[in-house]
Amino acid sequence: MTENLDPGARAAAEQKARKAARDASRKTEALDEPGGRKEILPPWEQDAEGISLVDTHAHIDGEDFDEDREDMLARAKQAGVIAVVTFGDTMEASARAASLAAKHENVFAGVGVHPENVYPFTKDDDDRLAAWAKGKNIVAIGEIGLDYYWEKDEEKRKLQRKMFVRQLALARDLDLPVCIHDREAHGDLMMILKTEGRKNRGVIHCFSGSWEMAKELLKLGWYIGVDGPLTYKNAAKLPEIVAKTPADRLLVETDCPYLSPLPYRGKRNEPAYVRITAERAAEIRGESLEDFAAQTTKNACEIYGLKVGI
Ligand SMILES: [Zn+2]
Repeated sequence: MTENLDPGARAAAEQKARKAARDASRKTEALDEPGGRKEILPPWEQDAEGISLVDTHAHIDGEDFDEDREDMLARAKQAGVIAVVTFGDTMEASARAASLAAKHENVFAGVGVHPENVYPFTKDDDDRLAAWAKGKNIVAIGEIGLDYYWEKDEEKRKLQRKMFVRQLALARDLDLPVCIHDREAHGDLMMILKTEGRKNRGVIHCFSGSWEMAKELLKLGWYIGVDGPLTYKNAAKLPEIVAKTPADRLLVETDCPYLSPLPYRGKRNEPAYVRITAERAAEIRGESLEDFAAQTTKNACEIYGLKVGI
């Protein structure tokens, strides 16, 4: 149907199709979560006195937020979220993330190419990332890593590893932390972090491994990020990991617009909802939300070098 359209219209049609696919997958997510917490006020309508949170992993550059980006940031602030770290997952998204960070005092960004979107880099690609990395509020190289859940082809997995190692090297050259995506690639991830990545630092975001793996990562100096799935009934190993991880190595994040916590599962996620994940984590650890928020915000400032007025 799109064959007769001009390139601009075709791009718009493709974008629409991608959005429809994402919306459909959110609806499926919602279906497999019966019940959930009901009748609670949204985070921005709750008291934020004494609460300082950072959403340490978001994607706020995309079209999901084109209509209400400023309002979304205002809602985050009202919910006690004092900073958002947004990540590029393609070159184009990295450029958008960098310009958002340049424009907003409390938005920070990471630039990089996600494993699902990698291609063989040229020197020019490295140079573009390095140039963005020197911009205002750019605090990391990411989102980078390995995704064997979506990628089954061995040649393409090999390319993922190559581009991951290349972006780790770039982060070392720039003396920046990295933000790592790891889905069903735990073995190769650990192997790379113990060899090429042994001098890198950063965060394993949306952690999905075992406590054994977490222990190894902690020993190597990595931070662990947890998201909305902590609130799901099938949270599996996550509560144990949140309970056992030392207070100074834990981060909270949304990965928005994906992975909404309950009771918003299946709907668009946004930075304000990091408060829900933080509440659940604080509950698991037997801490007050205020204390947990203060500690994880301190951690975020340490690993990403954030300068926020706290
Ligand atoms: Zn992400």
